Amino acid sequence: MKEKFRALLEELYGEHVPTKRKFFNFVCFAAPLFSLAATIVNLISRSVLDDNSSIGLWACIVCTVVCAGLYPLSKSFKSIDVLIYIVALGMNLFIFPLLYLTVGGITSSMPIFFVIGIVFSVLMIDDRKKDIIVAFVSYAWYCVLMLLDQKYAIAEKFSVLSGKHLYIDTYLDFVVVSGCIAILVKLLAVSFERQQAKTDALLAQMEELSVKDPLTGAYNRRFLIRYLENSITNAKENNSNIAIVMFDIDKFKRINDDYGHLVGDEVIKALATTLLKSCRDYDIVSRYGGEEFILVMPGAVEATALKRADQIREIFGKMKIADEIDRPVTISGGVAELSVSMHTPEDFIKYADDNLYIAKETGRNKIVGTTFNKNLPANAE
Ligand code: GH3
Ligand code: MG
Ligand code: MG
Repeated sequence: MKEKFRALLEELYGEHVPTKRKFFNFVCFAAPLFSLAATIVNLISRSVLDDNSSIGLWACIVCTVVCAGLYPLSKSFKSIDVLIYIVALGMNLFIFPLLYLTVGGITSSMPIFFVIGIVFSVLMIDDRKKDIIVAFVSYAWYCVLMLLDQKYAIAEKFSVLSGKHLYIDTYLDFVVVSGCIAILVKLLAVSFERQQAKTDALLAQMEELSVKDPLTGAYNRRFLIRYLENSITNAKENNSNIAIVMFDIDKFKRINDDYGHLVGDEVIKALATTLLKSCRDYDIVSRYGGEEFILVMPGAVEATALKRADQIREIFGKMKIADEIDRPVTISGGVAELSVSMHTPEDFIKYADDNLYIAKETGRNKIVGTTFNKNLPANAE
């Protein structure tokens, strides 16, 4: 039972349901309920009160039956837009005026339903011109109806409820109308919240995509440059340290040639994972180029960066990345510490790049810094 109710709710108000259809669905279920309530009022009035017009009762029964058929009809109806126009005009030009004439006219609470009729019509119709036309026609028709009623006392002739018994109608309508407005506002709020959550998630996803490299999940070059620009300014203002390491996979072209590009991609991903795992929360790992990565270490001096980079080099060199690779894959790195002579990210990166070049030139599988490069292992090719 609970499952069925949930499935019905999903069918009526699930995320895939367009907003106009949600309001239409609400009308499909609310309209027969309201008409049924009006029918009950009529029945009570017939048994309890002296006033006994059967026109009102029949009007309500007809409305209940017609409205109950709306939802099943909507499932087989070709154009939902046409059905929405028919329902909006039928509700405003026929059903509400009929109920108005049979439950007490201007002294009843039907004019409040007129407001609801116009509001729901505007919500269901998503064509701006057409919703204005329907609202205007309905509004004009209601005005004419109330004027005629006032002049010729039409409702008095048909009404079941009159005089002191009108309070029954007013009381019941108060319950129905306030419930209807509460559900409507809730529907709008939930719909808005869902949309907002979707937009927020999408924005976060787009933000992530715009700063991250899709292959490795590391930050991209654009983000790195922006980050370094800010970091350089902050480090200079606060007199703090910042170090970077530029890593490059040794003889990577050969890996691609010998094992194929897909295996090459696996190697790149493995290096990114190693870097991401070994960095602190406030370090930044970015993919600078094809198989080049830059690790940014805020607060670190060159000696610290050199030590950490060498640990990473050692871990990566021992890693088993793919079954087909039958030789160790190594990396080299160049370290740079921010100094007063560096003003832009490019200045800073150039120092690391120069040291990386020395590492490559002097045997690879090593990390080179400007001042601390003497005691590190140098593997001959
Ligand atoms: P060295 O030790 O001097 O660095 O030699 P190397 O062969 O690694 O030379 P280099 O760094 O210039 O090689 C970069 C190669 O990386 C060239 C390019 O084909 C390859 N590459 C760049 N991006 C990708 C990628 O996304 N996937 C794969 N599989 N290969 C890439
Ligand atoms: Mg390279
Ligand atoms: Mg390389």
